[in-house]
Amino acid sequence: MKVLKFGGSSVANAENIQKVVAIVKGNTESQIVVVSALGGVTDLLIKAGTLAEQSEEFYKEVLKQLETKHLDTARALLPVTHQSSCLSMIKQHFNELDEICNSVFYLKELSLRTKDRIISFGEMLSSKIIAAYMQSLGIAHEWLDSRKLIKTNSNFGFAAVNFSITNDKISYAVSSSGNQLFLAPGFISSDEQGNTTTLGRGGSDYTAAIFAAAVHATSLEIWTDVTGMMTADPRWVPNAKTIAATSYQEAMELSHFGAKVIYPPTIQPVMQKNIPTWVKNTFAPNEAGTVIGSSAAADEAEIITGISSINAIALLSLEGSGMVGIPGFSKRLFEALASEKINVILITQSSSEHSICVAVNTADSDKAKLAVDNAFEIEIAQGKLDPLKVEKDLSIIALVGDKMRHHTGIAGRMFDALGKNGVNIRAIAQGSSERNISAVIAGNDVKKAVNVLHEAFFETTYKQLNIFIIGAGNVGSKLIDQVKQQQPFLLEQLNLQVRVTGISNSKKMLFAENGNAIDLANWKASLDAADAMDLQAFVTTVIEKNLRNSVLVDVTANAGVAAVYGSLLAKTVSVVACNKIAASSSFESYLKLKSLAKEYNALFLFETNVGAGLPVIGTLNDLRRSGDKVIKIQAVLSGTLNFVFNNYNGTKPFTEVVRQAQAEGYTEPDPRLDLGGTDVMRKIMILAREAGEQIEMDDITNNGFLPQSCFEGTVEDFYSEMGRQESHFRKLYDEAAAKNCKLKFVAQFENGKASVGLQHIPADSDFYHLYGKDNIVLFYTQRYPEQPLVVKGAGAGADVTASGVFADIIRVARV
Ligand code: ADP
Ligand code: ASP
Ligand code: MG
Repeated sequence: MKVLKFGGSSVANAENIQKVVAIVKGNTESQIVVVSALGGVTDLLIKAGTLAEQSEEFYKEVLKQLETKHLDTARALLPVTHQSSCLSMIKQHFNELDEICNSVFYLKELSLRTKDRIISFGEMLSSKIIAAYMQSLGIAHEWLDSRKLIKTNSNFGFAAVNFSITNDKISYAVSSSGNQLFLAPGFISSDEQGNTTTLGRGGSDYTAAIFAAAVHATSLEIWTDVTGMMTADPRWVPNAKTIAATSYQEAMELSHFGAKVIYPPTIQPVMQKNIPTWVKNTFAPNEAGTVIGSSAAADEAEIITGISSINAIALLSLEGSGMVGIPGFSKRLFEALASEKINVILITQSSSEHSICVAVNTADSDKAKLAVDNAFEIEIAQGKLDPLKVEKDLSIIALVGDKMRHHTGIAGRMFDALGKNGVNIRAIAQGSSERNISAVIAGNDVKKAVNVLHEAFFETTYKQLNIFIIGAGNVGSKLIDQVKQQQPFLLEQLNLQVRVTGISNSKKMLFAENGNAIDLANWKASLDAADAMDLQAFVTTVIEKNLRNSVLVDVTANAGVAAVYGSLLAKTVSVVACNKIAASSSFESYLKLKSLAKEYNALFLFETNVGAGLPVIGTLNDLRRSGDKVIKIQAVLSGTLNFVFNNYNGTKPFTEVVRQAQAEGYTEPDPRLDLGGTDVMRKIMILAREAGEQIEMDDITNNGFLPQSCFEGTVEDFYSEMGRQESHFRKLYDEAAAKNCKLKFVAQFENGKASVGLQHIPADSDFYHLYGKDNIVLFYTQRYPEQPLVVKGAGAGADVTASGVFADIIRVARV
């Protein structure tokens, strides 16, 4: 004999019930079928009862709604000829329910006993409707009243089963009947006095296991809306996979720590009788699902079987010097909790014995505080113990796997993955079976944490990167194009899923909806239609979304944006910037950002600050990391100035050449930053800082070539003034040309000093053959004392800058 249990979504409506009955009919063995209430009904019954208790007449509407739902289901299932007795059965039940709720309404009182009575109607109705449907199809069966067979104590809402009586009653009912098919409501039972009790929310699974154990079933099948027990809750982790086989112990741990697919007490009765238990999908009955048995399949490659989590946890800490070495404190603590029937989910004690920490459901925490403070009243008054500390809004996340005990380093990997994503761990526990490691974390981190761990343990080579781009102009648009084009390659070759989850320009900001990425095929139109940009709101959204491997990408030249890096780094959001303002502001704030990044396991990358996509900063970092020491840096670092001096020979006015450089996208939005040398000063300062020098802008000598008058007024005034100063620029050119030299704006750093300025470059110089918008950097180091290490190539332009930014983004993923 087999036992099958169908959950709320499996019997949610007529169409689903037909699927259920098809599965039952497909069985040749004798069977007991246990059913839940129609999906959502238990919640609505609780709502009706609670509204009535609060004198809210709306409870009547809720009951009406419930009645209609059941009547509609019966009508849709049954041929008209079979409807009348079933419809009148439903009406009769609702008359009774109306009367009970009416009494609650008048008495303004809803005891746990009455509540159990109310919610028992869900399973009574569903099982009787399904029985009527089977009868209409001519399927011989017997309806069993679970209330009469499953006997419990009077702990309403969560009753404990008396197995010896229950087993006898069930086996007698089944063996004394000539039937091959039994149908029974899940969840409900009764106490010694015959009052209806329930087995706890989700308890129909347990009912089925109780039946299975009592009749020594050959197997138990839990039919639900997902294919088996999965490596994580599929609602949170889209890549969760079905676990083919698992042990009773693992299944118990997973469900105890929140895998809702099986109600935790379910495992005990089937484990005792060694009954193989399947978790299968009513909506995909041919898929194998999960088998839970005495041992997991040996060939499963993964060390971890699954990841689960529980929300609404409170952490209770009992601390104080009075605890040291005195036995009995823990006993008294647990007695105090037990006396209030508080379920302890996790326990940790520090080895100093100064504190003991337990996790309980938040709903129990106020009761727990009263009970514990009361139990230790004297010690607290004497100052030996502090009053119980209660922290709420927490969650527990657990890694479960039988094989964990044979492997080292699992906890290390777990905490490393969580740490890299800024998930702070409040308490840790490892079961002595070493089958489980659990950690208490902030409630709003739990979704991220489950995904991070899933990635770390089940998708070792697959990583998701969530990027938020500020600045969708020239470089930003190119970047988005590149990301869009590379996505398939990155996924295939690097197992990296790069998702754009936020985009903004100065006017608008766009975020991907719940769990998705922005569709890059028409991001421009979506951005146009999005909300107005508000930098603070943008930052808050990035933090609140709390996605794993989040990266802020700043492709603006805006000081306001640079000012928010700190708050994001402190939330473990990495920052990739082509904006130079942050790295070139005061040394103190540069250092602050670097140390925040280190402290919170994030990266602060700005390779494109110098030489656009050229590997300048990366090369410098590699030299230093490998123990080399920088002696001197010489460089031509302005794509704009290079372009200007390479294209100016007096035939076209200087101001026109500058305009062209701006039109081609090489200049800063205000080209005076380039022409005046400020941009090059920033770059050499950043290089000097990365070389280990504590240096500020004021320490850099600027031998600029722009007449002072050019710095006044607007950008347009600047262009006009350059026109008036044409003879000045012509003279600079002629003087160099007379010596067969080219003009280059050179930056230098040596002996702690940096300078920038226009120089005459003779034909034998490394700098002479530098065309277009190219940049060049010469690193003279201890290892490269005479022949410098040279980095040379296109040093400006939206495309190369975007690809440099992209490379930094990928770097974030690869740590
Ligand atoms: P039923 O009504 O059939 O009893 P439940 O809603 O109680 O169904 O349980 C099934 C749900 O459990 C799934 O829809 C899924 O979202 C959730 N769930 C949570 N963790 C897991 C897990 N590890 N594996 C499978 N499902 C899980
Ligand atoms: N109907 C009950 C509940 O929703 C029992 C169950 O479905 O397992 O909690
Ligand atoms: Mg369930």
